[in-house]
Amino acid sequence: MKTLCVYCGSNPGLRPEYGRAAAALAREFLKQGFDLVYGGAGVGIMGIIADTMLAGGGRVIGVMPQALVDKEVSHPGLTELKIVGSMHERKALMAKLSDGFIALPGGLGTLEELLEVLTWTQLGFHRKPCGLLNVLGYYDHLKSFLDLATAEGFIMEAHRPMLIVERDPEQLIQKFMTYEAPRVSKWADRKNPL
Ligand code: AMP
Repeated sequence: MKTLCVYCGSNPGLRPEYGRAAAALAREFLKQGFDLVYGGAGVGIMGIIADTMLAGGGRVIGVMPQALVDKEVSHPGLTELKIVGSMHERKALMAKLSDGFIALPGGLGTLEELLEVLTWTQLGFHRKPCGLLNVLGYYDHLKSFLDLATAEGFIMEAHRPMLIVERDPEQLIQKFMTYEAPRVSKWADRKNPL
């Protein structure tokens, strides 16, 4: 693993712990020599993780659609800013450039990006690890929802471990190192309750 993608809020959130966790994750990347791929903004949690990486001499690649660059939300000091045509191209390029994916606390954009990349795991389109940094239990309700969806037969048991959840950045990355993608089931294996 060389490059990790982080999805996170373009807002800072109300508690300082969210920003501190982003900085702690960046320091772990610096310690382990990982490059950061992210959405390219200079605001919110996104800005904090990029700033901490850059201040420590790390490489940060932002991927942003032209429309957002035009609104001047891009971070001015990135190692590289890749400009793409649409949000769809952005997500595809972020995924292609990265060896794994981590979500820090964030809102709709963060959830959308995380769930899309997890759907790609489920379909066997990639075998890269996906994790949540569960700062202050921010993602406890999402975890419970995924457990419910599994219990109700909408997520396969074999697919449930595809999302790694940890509160500590070092432990999360440790689990990435030993991650094995779940077996992709054939449609024919699926049980029909009728
Ligand atoms: P949100 O969680 O809704 O704040 O959205 C953040 C996620 O969506 C990030 O990981 C970005 O890739 C993308 N995103 C949403 N809004 C912006 C923005 N204003 N600038 C850059 N990226 C954004």
